[in-house]
Amino acid sequence: MTIRLLPSTTVNRIAAGEVVERPASAIKELVENSIDAGAKQIDVIIRDGGRSFLSVSDDGRGMNAAELTLAVERHATSKLPNDDLENIQTLGFRGEALPSIGSVSRMTITSRVADSDSAWMINIEGGDKSEPEPAALSQGTNIEVRDLFYATPARLKFLKTPKTENSHALDAIKRLAMAHPSIAFSVGDGTRTMLKLPQAQGNFLTARLDRLDAIMGNEFAANALAIDAEREGLHLSGHIGLPTLNRGNAALQFLFVNGRPVKDKLLFGAVRGAYRDFLAHDRHPLLALFLDIPAESLDVNVHPAKTEVRFRDTGLVRGLIVSALRHALAEAGHRASTTVSGQALGAMRPQTAPQHFQGSYGGASNSPVYPSSGLQEAARDFQAPIDQLTNLDRGLSVKHVPGDQVEEVPDDWPLGVARAQLHETYIVAQTDNGIVIVDQHAAHERLVYEDMKKALGADGIKRQGLLIPEIVEMDEGAADRIAARASELAELGLVVEAFGPGAIVVRETPAMLGEIDIKGLINDLADDLAESDEALDLKERLADVSATMACHGSVRAGRHLNGEEMNALLRQMEITPHSGQCNHGRPTYVELKLADIEKLFGRR
Ligand code: ADP
Ligand code: MG
Repeated sequence: MTIRLLPSTTVNRIAAGEVVERPASAIKELVENSIDAGAKQIDVIIRDGGRSFLSVSDDGRGMNAAELTLAVERHATSKLPNDDLENIQTLGFRGEALPSIGSVSRMTITSRVADSDSAWMINIEGGDKSEPEPAALSQGTNIEVRDLFYATPARLKFLKTPKTENSHALDAIKRLAMAHPSIAFSVGDGTRTMLKLPQAQGNFLTARLDRLDAIMGNEFAANALAIDAEREGLHLSGHIGLPTLNRGNAALQFLFVNGRPVKDKLLFGAVRGAYRDFLAHDRHPLLALFLDIPAESLDVNVHPAKTEVRFRDTGLVRGLIVSALRHALAEAGHRASTTVSGQALGAMRPQTAPQHFQGSYGGASNSPVYPSSGLQEAARDFQAPIDQLTNLDRGLSVKHVPGDQVEEVPDDWPLGVARAQLHETYIVAQTDNGIVIVDQHAAHERLVYEDMKKALGADGIKRQGLLIPEIVEMDEGAADRIAARASELAELGLVVEAFGPGAIVVRETPAMLGEIDIKGLINDLADDLAESDEALDLKERLADVSATMACHGSVRAGRHLNGEEMNALLRQMEITPHSGQCNHGRPTYVELKLADIEKLFGRR
């Protein structure tokens, strides 16, 4: 056995295996370099998914001949002036990208430092470097990469279709562009423009919202809540979508730490935690969150691709995210996304098929044209009145007003005056400038859940005794399951006891449910318990248990409600947080503005 040092080309190709996984990662590294170089305009060209050709040009500070020679050496960087890995302020710091890319492709770098007489160019082919020679370029740096991975055929085999590689590349560029709204970006294939983002104007927050709007589509902007929270030197900002605007995967969740796009398990977990109450586990919200954290509390030197980070205090980060998101969602009150009415209108319109938001976001070009309230209004809604929160304390004590006695819609009734109930399931209400249709069952389910949560956190769930206790007969296993949970159920407002083999006696029920179908409820609960994990406390499954309870309460679907009951439900929705969606993220109501209805009839 002979131990020897590997030649530098081999070392670089090994590093390239980690740094450049696919064309998108090469593009990401090059664009990061342009951002670090202070560019104001970055132009990317991708052909054949980046496999045959890609280039990145910028108007940044550029490199002279000596710097060019050094830049393509491994571990050569201008970005760690004090060798201080504890305090990284730039996107790059490892000095690995250029030598890695150069070792597996044919790369040409042309660059010009401002005020210098000429530009310089250097070539690297499969790791072989040329001497720098004079070249023509007016400013900044242009890097062209041909035949990526030609020198590592094994990697070449793993590339997907050009279309897929192209979309990965666009994704990487968009992520960087979101965090740097003051830089203009363009992406094309040499003939066609795929993405064009002008330099966003205004103060940083306005500029960033503009950029998010341009990248994620105005559906997101119109249905997003602003986040701005601070805790012990950590700052969290950005925008999160209402739960009713959700997707089957997390592709539209963008997380950044100190301006660096990251895919971090801890952060995704915190987001999931914050939305857990509002979304089924297989649905995902849309969001762009920016965490700013003192560089010394963070380690970005985790992986060569630099998309993972480690936090010194993970509890603090998680706590900040969960509480900031929950707070914003609570302030949103009963708001449901405008998409909901957009889809409703789309479905009603005779010819124009509803344009659904694409699974992969595609920028302004394919963003849908919903009759949404637009950015302006969304921005106003970001400052949702705090008194919605204080209103929560009013709990169930809402005014009971029969709808037919109300002529004008009071200002503080955003969900309007109930005018009718249709199919014993939908409440139709008249608002100032439109109509609201409420799914009474979905809404009630949510109200019961929020109410139970609140009562459990305060002085417990109110019960109401039955004049005549009800006996429910069921099979023995089912009765045992219920009896075994008697003390937990009592905490949730349902007082039961075993009544001989195969029967349960019910003495008290949760007051908030009103009149209740006891037999149906007990049977369904027994079924729920059979399916669920025995170790799990019922309170941890409150969303499910309360939904089952609501199903048998007085407002369930198929039940006639009088005007007073309908209006009480609307008023309660208005003061209950998260009441715009049911426990699974479906909307509880749809609002159609008069303007939209007029469009339906061709009046506009
Ligand atoms: P790192 O970014 O980690 O420093 P790279 O291999 O990506 O490592 O780049 C090496 C060096 O080359 C950088 O530190 C920088 O000085 C220089 N460089 C790379 N790209 C550019 C560019 N677009 N404009 C100016 N300088 C650049
Ligand atoms: Mg770099």
